[in-house]
Amino acid sequence: MYDVIIIGGGIIGCAIAYYLSFYNLKVVLLEKENDVSCGTTKANSAIIHAGYDPKPNTLMAKHNVLGSKLTKELCEKLDIPYKQCGALVVGFTEDDLNTINQLYQRGLDNGVEGLEVLSREEVLKLEPNLSDEVKGALWAKTSAIVSPWEYALALAEVAVKNGVELKLNSEVKSIKKDEFFTVETTSEKYNGKYIINAAGVHSDDIHELIGKKEFTIKPSRGEYYLLDKSEGSRCSRTIFQCPNENGKGVLVSPTVHGNLIVGPNAESSEKDDVSTVASSLDFVKNNALRSIPSIDFRENIRNFSGVRARSDRNDFIVEESKSVENFFNLAGIQSPGLSAAPSLALEAVNWLKGKEELVKKENAVDERKRLKLKDLSDENKNELIQKNPAYGKIVCRCESITEGEILQCFDTVIPPVSIDGVKRRCNTGMGRCQGGFCGERITNILIDKLGIKPQEVLQDKEGSNIINSLAKEEH
Ligand SMILES: Cc1cc2nc3c(=O)[nH]c(=O)nc-3n(C[C@H](O)[C@H](O)[C@H](O)COP(=O)(O)OP(=O)(O)OC[C@H]3O[C@@H](n4cnc5c(N)ncnc54)[C@H](O)[C@@H]3O)c2cc1C
Repeated sequence: MYDVIIIGGGIIGCAIAYYLSFYNLKVVLLEKENDVSCGTTKANSAIIHAGYDPKPNTLMAKHNVLGSKLTKELCEKLDIPYKQCGALVVGFTEDDLNTINQLYQRGLDNGVEGLEVLSREEVLKLEPNLSDEVKGALWAKTSAIVSPWEYALALAEVAVKNGVELKLNSEVKSIKKDEFFTVETTSEKYNGKYIINAAGVHSDDIHELIGKKEFTIKPSRGEYYLLDKSEGSRCSRTIFQCPNENGKGVLVSPTVHGNLIVGPNAESSEKDDVSTVASSLDFVKNNALRSIPSIDFRENIRNFSGVRARSDRNDFIVEESKSVENFFNLAGIQSPGLSAAPSLALEAVNWLKGKEELVKKENAVDERKRLKLKDLSDENKNELIQKNPAYGKIVCRCESITEGEILQCFDTVIPPVSIDGVKRRCNTGMGRCQGGFCGERITNILIDKLGIKPQEVLQDKEGSNIINSLAKEEH
C-alpha cells in the first residue's frame, strides 16, 4: 500500500518524487520505459526560460518565473550542468520591435528580473555573428541552459536514495478505485491513496483510464539540428526570434555540452512520433540562418525531435481531477515545462498537504555528485588514475570519457541498461562520431556489467537491440 503513486518519470514526475522524498511517505514512481527521462524531457531546447513569454496571470507565467529560480538552486546543489548564459529575442522589423517592447513589459508584469531592451548596435556588440538585418533585441539575463536528462536523473537519484521506489518498464494499463486506487502495470499491481499523473503526452489517456474527459492533449512535434562543438561558439547566448502563434520560434543556442542547438519547428503529430522530416529541417535551417547567417550546417552531427504536450486549455493543467477524488493532474506541460518543473512539483506537494499532514523525514539526503574527469586538475587526475587505472583509459575519444567514469555510473542507484543510458549518465557518444568509435566498447561494458548476451544489448528503449543474431553461435 503506497501513499502516493506517481505516473511518469519525466522531469515533472522526477521533481515530484524528489520533493516527496523528504517526507515520511511511501511513494512509488511508475515509468513505462527502461530509464527516467525517455519522453519529452530528453528532447527539447534545454532552455531554462526567464519568463517574459507566457501571458501574465497564467499558470505558465507563475510557474516559469518561480521554477527558473528553483532550477538554478537545484542545479547548483545536485551538480547538474547549468549555465546562465542569458537570451536575446532579436527583431528584424518595426513590428518585431513592438513585440519586443511588449515582451519586455510582459516580463516586468510576470516579475522577471534582469530584462533590457537593446539597440541594434548594442546587440551586435554582444553577438557579432548576428545578421546585419537585426534591428534590436530583448536581453533576458536570467535565461539559462541545462542538461535536461541529467536534471531529471539527479532528482530521481536523490528520491530513490531517500526511499522512493522507482519501477521502470512499468506501463500503467488500468486504474481502478474502491476505497483506494489499484494501478495495474505491465509488470505488477500497486495500491495507493493518491495518484499524481505526470505522464506527459499521455496524461489525458492516463486520466481517462478512471476519470471523465477533462482535457485533450494535442501533440506538436519540434525538430532540431545538433551541431558539432566546432560551431558551439557561434553565439554565447540563446538567440530567439519574435514568438508567433506557433510558439517561441526557431532558436540558436549554445548547449551546456559545448555544441550548438538549432530548432524547433512546430508540427501537429502523433504522441510518440519522434521522426524528423527533411522539409521541417529545411524550415528550421532557413529560419536559423536568418538570425545567424554564418552557421555551418555541414557540422551537423545529429537531428532529433521531441513532442510537446499541448492541451486544449492552452495553459498548464495543475489540479485535482474533477471526476476522481485524490487524483492530481500535472498535464498539458508544454514549454516552459522544463523551466517550471520544480515549481509545478511543489504545487503537487501543497495539494497533498491540503489532504493530510506531511511529516518531514529525518536524515534525508539532498546532495548528489558526478565525477567528471575533464574538470579535474592534472594533479587530481593523476591521483585518481594511480588509485584506479580505469580513469586513465579513454573510451569515448570525442568527449574524453574514461572507462572509470563509465563504470562508476553502474554503481549509482539508477544504473544504465542501454548504450543511450550510459550516454545520458556520462556523455559518451555525444561527440562528432556519435558513438561510432566507443559504441562497441560500451556494448562490451554493458555485456559485462549486466551479465547479458550481445543480442540483449539495447541502444535505448526495449526492442532497440543492436545485434539480431551472432554470425557464429556460441556452444
Ligand atoms: C520541441 C520542444 C522544445 C521544448 N523546449 C523547452 C525549453 O527549452 N524549455 C522548457 O522549459 N521547456 C521546453 N519544452 C517543454 C518540456 O520539454 C516539457 O514541458 C517537459 O519535458 C515535460 O516533462 P513531463 O515530465 O511532463 O513529460 P515527459 O518527459 O514526456 O515524461 C512523461 C513520462 O511519462 C511516461 N509515461 C507515459 N505514459 C505512461 C504510462 N502509461 N505508464 C507509465 N509511464 C508513462 C513517459 O514514458 C515519460 O517518461 C520543450 C518541449 C518540446 C517538445
